[in-house]
Amino acid sequence: MLIDTHCHLDFDRFDDDREAVVRRAEEAGVRRIIVPALDLQNCQNVLDLASKYAHVYAAVGVHPNSTSAWEASWLDQVRRFAHHPKVVAIGEIGIDYYWDDSPKEIQHKSFSAQLNLAADLDLPVIIHNRDAGEDVIRLLAKSRLAGGEKSGVLHSFSADWHIAEAALEMGFYIGITGPVTFKKADGLRDIVAKLPLNRILVETDAPFLAPQPRRGKRNEPSYVTFVAEQIALLHDLSIEELSKITTANAHRLFGQMQLDRIKPDGDQA
Ligand SMILES: [Zn+2]
Repeated sequence: MLIDTHCHLDFDRFDDDREAVVRRAEEAGVRRIIVPALDLQNCQNVLDLASKYAHVYAAVGVHPNSTSAWEASWLDQVRRFAHHPKVVAIGEIGIDYYWDDSPKEIQHKSFSAQLNLAADLDLPVIIHNRDAGEDVIRLLAKSRLAGGEKSGVLHSFSADWHIAEAALEMGFYIGITGPVTFKKADGLRDIVAKLPLNRILVETDAPFLAPQPRRGKRNEPSYVTFVAEQIALLHDLSIEELSKITTANAHRLFGQMQLDRIKPDGDQA
Protein backbone atom coordinates (compact mmCIF):
# COMPACT_ATOMS: atom_id res chain seq x y z
CA MET A 1 0.00 0.00 0.00
CA LEU A 2 1.14 3.52 -0.86
CA ILE A 3 -0.22 6.97 -0.09
CA ASP A 4 0.06 9.80 -2.62
CA THR A 5 0.35 12.69 -0.20
CA HIS A 6 0.10 15.40 -2.87
CA CYS A 7 -2.18 15.22 -5.89
CA HIS A 8 -4.29 17.94 -7.54
CA LEU A 9 -7.10 15.57 -8.38
CA ASP A 10 -9.53 18.49 -8.57
CA PHE A 11 -7.86 20.03 -11.65
CA ASP A 12 -9.93 20.05 -14.82
CA ARG A 13 -7.37 17.82 -16.51
CA PHE A 14 -9.07 15.00 -14.59
CA ASP A 15 -12.63 16.03 -15.42
CA ASP A 16 -13.07 13.49 -18.19
CA ASP A 17 -11.82 10.42 -16.35
CA ARG A 18 -11.55 11.17 -12.63
CA GLU A 19 -13.38 7.96 -11.66
CA ALA A 20 -10.96 5.90 -13.73
CA VAL A 21 -7.94 7.74 -12.26
CA VAL A 22 -9.11 6.96 -8.72
CA ARG A 23 -9.79 3.35 -9.67
CA ARG A 24 -6.36 2.93 -11.28
CA ALA A 25 -4.76 4.33 -8.13
CA GLU A 26 -6.60 1.79 -6.02
CA GLU A 27 -5.60 -1.04 -8.35
CA ALA A 28 -1.97 0.08 -8.14
CA GLY A 29 -2.17 -0.10 -4.33
CA VAL A 30 -2.36 3.66 -3.81
CA ARG A 31 -4.95 3.57 -1.05
CA ARG A 32 -5.06 7.20 0.07
CA ILE A 33 -4.74 10.41 -1.92
CA ILE A 34 -4.29 13.79 -0.27
CA VAL A 35 -5.52 16.71 -2.37
CA PRO A 36 -4.13 20.12 -1.32
CA ALA A 37 -5.91 23.38 -2.10
CA LEU A 38 -4.46 26.42 -3.86
CA ASP A 39 -6.92 29.19 -3.00
CA LEU A 40 -10.22 29.78 -1.23
CA GLN A 41 -12.34 28.85 -4.24
CA ASN A 42 -10.35 25.69 -4.69
CA CYS A 43 -10.71 24.78 -0.98
CA GLN A 44 -14.39 24.02 -1.56
CA ASN A 45 -13.54 21.91 -4.62
CA VAL A 46 -11.05 19.72 -2.77
CA LEU A 47 -13.53 19.24 0.09
CA ASP A 48 -16.20 18.19 -2.40
CA LEU A 49 -13.81 15.56 -3.77
CA ALA A 50 -12.91 14.33 -0.30
CA SER A 51 -16.62 14.03 0.47
CA LYS A 52 -17.21 12.06 -2.69
CA TYR A 53 -14.34 9.57 -2.60
CA ALA A 54 -13.59 7.47 0.48
CA HIS A 55 -9.86 7.30 -0.39
CA VAL A 56 -9.45 11.03 -0.89
CA TYR A 57 -8.42 13.38 1.92
CA ALA A 58 -7.87 17.12 1.72
CA ALA A 59 -5.66 19.99 2.80
CA VAL A 60 -6.95 23.56 2.85
CA GLY A 61 -4.99 26.77 2.54
CA VAL A 62 -3.81 29.48 0.18
CA HIS A 63 -0.81 28.81 -2.11
CA PRO A 64 1.82 31.61 -2.16
CA ASN A 65 1.05 32.37 -5.81
CA SER A 66 -2.57 33.12 -4.86
CA THR A 67 -1.82 35.49 -1.99
CA SER A 68 -1.46 38.85 -3.81
CA ALA A 69 -4.89 40.03 -2.56
CA TRP A 70 -4.43 38.43 0.90
CA GLU A 71 -6.68 39.79 3.65
CA ALA A 72 -6.79 38.80 7.30
CA SER A 73 -10.34 37.52 6.79
CA TRP A 74 -9.01 34.80 4.49
CA LEU A 75 -7.53 33.11 7.52
CA ASP A 76 -11.00 32.78 9.05
CA GLN A 77 -12.25 31.22 5.86
CA VAL A 78 -9.39 28.67 5.82
CA ARG A 79 -10.16 27.95 9.48
CA ARG A 80 -13.80 27.24 8.64
CA PHE A 81 -12.85 24.94 5.76
CA ALA A 82 -10.42 23.12 8.06
CA HIS A 83 -13.27 21.87 10.23
CA HIS A 84 -14.34 19.45 7.52
CA PRO A 85 -13.71 15.94 8.93
CA LYS A 86 -11.52 14.87 6.00
CA VAL A 87 -9.07 17.76 6.27
CA VAL A 88 -5.69 16.38 7.36
CA ALA A 89 -3.44 19.44 6.86
CA ILE A 90 -3.16 23.14 6.09
CA GLY A 91 -1.76 23.51 2.58
CA GLU A 92 -0.42 24.11 0.29
CA ILE A 93 1.20 27.18 1.78
CA GLY A 94 4.70 28.57 1.44
CA ILE A 95 6.88 30.93 -0.57
CA ASP A 96 7.54 31.10 -4.31
CA TYR A 97 10.15 33.51 -5.71
CA TYR A 98 10.23 31.79 -9.08
CA TRP A 99 6.84 32.94 -10.34
CA ASP A 100 6.87 35.99 -8.12
CA ASP A 101 3.08 36.35 -8.41
CA SER A 102 2.74 38.05 -5.04
CA PRO A 103 4.95 40.59 -3.21
CA LYS A 104 7.48 39.07 -0.83
CA GLU A 105 6.04 40.73 2.27
CA ILE A 106 2.55 39.40 1.52
CA GLN A 107 3.89 35.91 0.90
CA HIS A 108 5.72 35.99 4.23
CA LYS A 109 2.71 37.35 6.09
CA SER A 110 0.22 34.85 4.67
CA PHE A 111 2.64 31.94 5.16
CA SER A 112 3.28 32.82 8.81
CA ALA A 113 -0.41 33.38 9.48
CA GLN A 114 -1.29 29.97 8.05
CA LEU A 115 1.55 28.26 9.93
CA ASN A 116 0.16 29.60 13.17
CA LEU A 117 -3.37 28.63 12.18
CA ALA A 118 -2.11 25.06 11.70
CA ALA A 119 -0.56 25.19 15.18
CA ASP A 120 -3.88 26.47 16.59
CA LEU A 121 -5.79 23.66 14.92
CA ASP A 122 -3.18 21.01 15.73
CA LEU A 123 -2.78 20.19 12.03
CA PRO A 124 0.41 19.59 10.01
CA VAL A 125 1.30 21.76 7.00
CA ILE A 126 2.06 21.05 3.34
CA ILE A 127 4.74 23.48 2.21
CA HIS A 128 5.45 24.76 -1.28
CA ASN A 129 8.95 26.20 -1.69
CA ARG A 130 10.31 27.47 -4.95
CA ASP A 131 13.68 29.25 -4.83
CA ALA A 132 12.86 30.44 -1.32
CA GLY A 133 14.40 27.78 0.93
CA GLU A 134 16.20 30.16 3.29
CA ASP A 135 13.09 32.22 3.98
CA VAL A 136 10.88 29.14 4.31
CA ILE A 137 13.23 27.73 6.96
CA ARG A 138 13.49 31.09 8.74
CA LEU A 139 9.71 31.51 8.98
CA LEU A 140 9.19 27.87 9.97
CA ALA A 141 11.69 28.32 12.79
CA LYS A 142 9.79 31.40 14.00
CA SER A 143 6.40 29.67 13.84
CA ARG A 144 4.76 27.79 16.67
CA LEU A 145 5.05 24.58 14.62
CA ALA A 146 8.82 24.39 15.14
CA GLY A 147 9.52 21.94 17.92
CA GLY A 148 5.79 21.30 18.34
CA GLU A 149 4.05 17.98 18.06
CA LYS A 150 2.69 18.56 14.55
CA SER A 151 5.16 19.42 11.80
CA GLY A 152 4.69 19.21 8.07
CA VAL A 153 6.23 18.30 4.75
CA LEU A 154 8.47 20.20 2.35
CA HIS A 155 6.51 19.05 -0.65
CA SER A 156 8.13 18.15 -4.01
CA PHE A 157 11.55 18.81 -2.57
CA SER A 158 13.93 20.51 -5.00
CA ALA A 159 16.22 22.55 -2.74
CA ASP A 160 19.75 21.91 -1.48
CA TRP A 161 20.78 19.46 1.20
CA HIS A 162 21.24 22.16 3.85
CA ILE A 163 17.57 23.12 3.48
CA ALA A 164 16.54 19.48 3.91
CA GLU A 165 18.82 19.20 6.93
CA ALA A 166 17.35 22.31 8.58
CA ALA A 167 13.80 21.06 7.96
CA LEU A 168 14.63 17.60 9.32
CA GLU A 169 16.10 19.15 12.46
CA MET A 170 12.79 20.91 13.08
CA GLY A 171 10.93 17.61 12.75
CA PHE A 172 9.69 18.08 9.18
CA TYR A 173 9.26 15.50 6.44
CA ILE A 174 10.51 15.65 2.85
CA GLY A 175 8.11 14.93 -0.02
CA ILE A 176 9.64 13.36 -3.13
CA THR A 177 8.04 13.55 -6.58
CA GLY A 178 8.67 12.39 -10.16
CA PRO A 179 11.88 14.36 -10.83
CA VAL A 180 13.78 11.83 -8.65
CA THR A 181 13.36 9.46 -11.61
CA PHE A 182 14.67 11.90 -14.23
CA LYS A 183 17.91 11.16 -16.01
CA LYS A 184 19.67 14.36 -14.97
CA ALA A 185 18.53 14.35 -11.34
CA ASP A 186 21.67 12.93 -9.73
CA GLY A 187 21.78 15.82 -7.28
CA LEU A 188 18.27 15.10 -6.04
CA ARG A 189 18.98 11.36 -5.89
CA ASP A 190 22.07 12.05 -3.73
CA ILE A 191 19.86 14.01 -1.33
CA VAL A 192 17.15 11.33 -1.24
CA ALA A 193 19.77 8.66 -0.53
CA LYS A 194 20.85 10.66 2.53
CA LEU A 195 17.34 11.27 3.92
CA PRO A 196 16.36 9.32 7.02
CA LEU A 197 13.77 6.75 5.97
CA ASN A 198 11.33 7.77 8.67
CA ARG A 199 10.98 11.26 7.13
CA ILE A 200 10.30 10.46 3.47
CA LEU A 201 6.89 10.86 1.83
CA VAL A 202 6.03 9.89 -1.75
CA GLU A 203 3.96 12.27 -3.87
CA THR A 204 2.95 12.79 -7.48
CA ASP A 205 1.96 16.49 -7.58
CA ALA A 206 -0.28 15.24 -10.42
CA PRO A 207 -1.17 16.37 -13.03
CA PHE A 208 2.39 17.76 -13.05
CA LEU A 209 5.83 16.11 -12.87
CA ALA A 210 5.05 12.66 -14.27
CA PRO A 211 7.92 10.30 -13.41
CA GLN A 212 9.86 8.17 -15.85
CA PRO A 213 8.68 6.23 -17.83
CA ARG A 214 5.63 8.52 -18.11
CA ARG A 215 7.57 11.77 -18.26
CA GLY A 216 5.83 14.46 -20.34
CA LYS A 217 2.42 12.84 -19.94
CA ARG A 218 -0.32 13.83 -17.52
CA ASN A 219 0.68 12.53 -14.12
CA GLU A 220 -1.79 10.60 -11.93
CA PRO A 221 -1.73 9.06 -8.45
CA SER A 222 -1.08 5.48 -9.63
CA TYR A 223 2.31 6.70 -10.92
CA VAL A 224 3.53 7.33 -7.38
CA THR A 225 4.69 3.71 -7.61
CA PHE A 226 7.50 4.83 -9.96
CA VAL A 227 8.65 7.38 -7.38
CA ALA A 228 8.57 4.74 -4.66
CA GLU A 229 10.54 2.27 -6.81
CA GLN A 230 13.30 4.82 -7.36
CA ILE A 231 13.57 5.64 -3.65
CA ALA A 232 13.57 1.94 -2.76
CA LEU A 233 16.50 1.47 -5.13
CA LEU A 234 18.41 4.37 -3.57
CA HIS A 235 17.92 2.94 -0.09
CA ASP A 236 18.54 -0.65 -1.14
CA LEU A 237 15.07 -1.77 -0.05
CA SER A 238 12.32 -3.75 -1.69
CA ILE A 239 9.34 -1.75 -2.95
CA GLU A 240 7.24 -3.49 -0.26
CA GLU A 241 9.56 -2.36 2.53
CA LEU A 242 9.72 1.20 1.20
CA SER A 243 5.92 1.32 0.81
CA LYS A 244 5.42 0.18 4.37
CA ILE A 245 7.81 2.82 5.70
CA THR A 246 6.46 5.78 3.71
CA THR A 247 2.86 4.80 4.46
CA ALA A 248 3.65 4.68 8.17
CA ASN A 249 5.29 8.11 7.81
CA ALA A 250 2.18 9.53 6.13
CA HIS A 251 -0.03 8.15 8.90
CA ARG A 252 2.26 9.56 11.58
CA LEU A 253 2.11 13.02 10.02
CA PHE A 254 -1.46 13.18 8.69
CA GLY A 255 -3.26 10.77 11.03
CA GLN A 256 -4.90 7.44 10.37
CA MET A 257 -7.20 8.52 7.50
CA GLN A 258 -9.45 5.55 8.11
CA LEU A 259 -11.86 4.56 5.41
CA ASP A 260 -14.54 3.68 7.93
CA ARG A 261 -14.66 7.25 9.14
CA ILE A 262 -18.10 8.87 9.14
CA LYS A 263 -18.89 10.13 5.68
CA PRO A 264 -18.90 13.92 5.81
CA ASP A 265 -21.73 15.74 4.09
CA GLY A 266 -19.39 18.33 2.62
CA ASP A 267 -21.60 21.17 3.74
CA GLN A 268 -19.31 23.91 4.98
CA ALA A 269 -21.93 26.63 5.44
ZN1 LIG B 1 0.99 21.08 -5.57
